[in-house]
Amino acid sequence: MSMQISTTRTERPVDDARLAEILAEPGFGTHFTDHMFTVEWTPAEGWHDARVTPYGPLSLDPATAVLHYAQETFEGMKAYRHGDGSIWAFRPEENAARMVRSSHRLALPVLEVEDFVQAVEALVSVDERWVPDPAGEKSLYLRPFMFASEAFLGVRPSQHVTFMVIASPAGSYFKGGVRPVSLWLSEEYTRAGRGGMGAAKTGGNYASSLLPQSEAIAQGCDQVVFLDGEEGTYVEELGGMNMYFVFKDGRIVTPALGTILEGITRASIIELAGKMGHQVEERRFGIDEWRDGVASGDIVEIFACGTAAVVTPVGELRWQDGGHTPAPASTELTSAIRQALVDVQFGRAEDTFGWMRRIV
Ligand SMILES: *Cc1c(COP(=O)(O)O)cnc(C)c1O
Repeated sequence: MSMQISTTRTERPVDDARLAEILAEPGFGTHFTDHMFTVEWTPAEGWHDARVTPYGPLSLDPATAVLHYAQETFEGMKAYRHGDGSIWAFRPEENAARMVRSSHRLALPVLEVEDFVQAVEALVSVDERWVPDPAGEKSLYLRPFMFASEAFLGVRPSQHVTFMVIASPAGSYFKGGVRPVSLWLSEEYTRAGRGGMGAAKTGGNYASSLLPQSEAIAQGCDQVVFLDGEEGTYVEELGGMNMYFVFKDGRIVTPALGTILEGITRASIIELAGKMGHQVEERRFGIDEWRDGVASGDIVEIFACGTAAVVTPVGELRWQDGGHTPAPASTELTSAIRQALVDVQFGRAEDTFGWMRRIV
């Protein structure tokens, strides 16, 4: 099945001079392209009325279900311009498949993988001039999202659902060069529990992370790290990034799936590090193993990963009453993995895994 997409181009696109200014200093998530993609769903009609239209505000009934019960899912991905001017997405089918899984958990309808990819490609094609030049690792951040758009206060899955894609040029995550992030260990709050929605990419997980994240900032740290909800012992992930621990014998460990978000960067690193000759273990990883491993020198690097920052070294870990574990000694493998990934994404290295999909 493929969608019929109508396109209405804006009569007032951002002019070339202003666009050049925005792309020179895009920041993150503040500037949006000239257009957006929308498709709607009802039980009777299925997905219908797919369209690319000028970017603009939505008009929502105050009773719109998502505003009350947070029935929504989203994705985060990027379009990259290569040196020859072509534009590519990184494993977009994986984002599409993850949205199917997230939406299942949130009782939202299935948007087929090919329809999701087609929607993303339609928007990027219309707004292709918004994809920055690759210098400085700039890209076009894409935000597909699905939400309960029925105006009804009853508690049940929405009978009207909207899926949209918006896009925003993004600069390099690290302005002053790659710098290790310091982490605050949240002992009071967790992000997910057994049977909950920790594995779904849904706004509620972010809403619940904001308070602990502010606590981290107030404690002088960059990010919060969460432990499992049952025993408060095992490392889960950061508010929006997965974690990796590198041992001095070359093994690398990442927390097993279950209550964490299944990062596509995480999954890609499992394959990449394997090819680089590292043994990769997906398993439970105790907070004591972190503290002891850094202290003994067994753990030589720690890093976090996700689409926005790709790979970022983790520095000091701090917790209540002045407890802390220092930054591990090295960032060598962290840098090598980061470089290998961005080289594939920007077309500077051979795409041996077949991860890239050409859009334009
Ligand atoms: C999106 C996300 C990640 C990273 O996933 P990627 O697919 O690698 O971008 C990690 N943790 C959470 C909670 C997320 O929402």
